[in-house]
Amino acid sequence: MSEQPRVALVTGAARGIGAATARRLAADGLAVAVLDLDESAAAGTAEAIVADGGRALAVGADVADADRVTAAVDRVVAELGPPTVLVNNAGVLRDNLLFKMTDQDWDTVLGVHLRGAFLVTRAVQKHMVDQKWGRIVNLSSTSALGNRGQLNYSAAKAGLQGFTKTLAIELGPFGVTANAVAPGFIVTDMTAATAARVGVDFAEFQKLGAAEIPVRRVGRPEDVAHTISFLVSEGASFVSGQVIYVAGGPKD
Ligand code: NAP
Repeated sequence: MSEQPRVALVTGAARGIGAATARRLAADGLAVAVLDLDESAAAGTAEAIVADGGRALAVGADVADADRVTAAVDRVVAELGPPTVLVNNAGVLRDNLLFKMTDQDWDTVLGVHLRGAFLVTRAVQKHMVDQKWGRIVNLSSTSALGNRGQLNYSAAKAGLQGFTKTLAIELGPFGVTANAVAPGFIVTDMTAATAARVGVDFAEFQKLGAAEIPVRRVGRPEDVAHTISFLVSEGASFVSGQVIYVAGGPKD
C-alpha cells in the first residue's frame, strides 16, 4: 500500500450501484470522488461516506461532456489527490423497439455509456500511468448478450466489454488492470423505471425476476459493489480484461 489512501472516482454515484460502490470503496479505506450529473445529488453519497468516517468529494459533471470531465478530474486531483481507481458506472436507459427508437434515444445512451467511459478513462489514465498502478472497472450488463427493447443499451454494454479488453491490453504494461462487471437484475431506480415502463408493479416485477434467477433472488447494489471491491483491490493485479457477470447464475 502507498502511504496516502488511494483515490477512487466513481461516476453516476448519487444513487443505485454507483452509490453503493462509492460507500464500499470508502469503507475499504479509499478516498472517493462521487461524481454525478448533479453535484447536490452526489453530495448525499459523499456526506454518508464522511458520516461513516471516510473521505469523499462530491463532483457534478456530465460524463459525455469532454470539458466538464476534464474540469471534474482536475478538481479531484486538486482536492483529493490523483485518482488511480476508476469505476465507469454512470448510465441511462432510453428503451424502445427498433422501429420506435429515435436518433436521440440512440445518441443519449451511446453518449453516456460509451463516450462517457471513454472521456473519463482518458482523463484519468495519466494518473494511473504516472503511479504505475491503476484499476478500472466498467459497468456492462447481461443486456450485452441481447435484450428486446434495448438495442441502444445492449450495443453500449457490449461495446464496453471490447473497450475493457483493449484497455487491459494497452494499460497492462503500466500496472493498470481493466475489468467489466455485468450485472443482471439489481434493485435500483433504473429497474423500477423498467417495471413502470412495462406496466408491472415493482414488487411483482422483482418476484417474477427472482423466479428466473438460479439463486432465486434479485440482486442488490451491494452485490455489485462487493465484486468491484475485489477487482480494485491490491491482490487482484493478475485479473484483467475480464467480464464478470453478477447475475445470480451463469450468463455467457
Ligand atoms: P441508476 O439508479 O439510474 O443510477 C445511475 C446514475 O448515473 C444516476 O445517479 C444518474 O444521475 C447518473 N448519470 C446518468 N447520466 C449521467 C451522466 N451523463 N453523467 C453523470 N452521471 C450520470 O442506475 P443503476 O441501476 O445504479 O445503474 C448503474 C450502472 O449499472 C449503469 O451503467 C447501468 O447501466 C448498470 N446496470 C444496472 C443494472 C440494474 O439492474 N440496475 C443491471 C446491469 C447494469 P441522474 O439521477 O441525475 O440521472
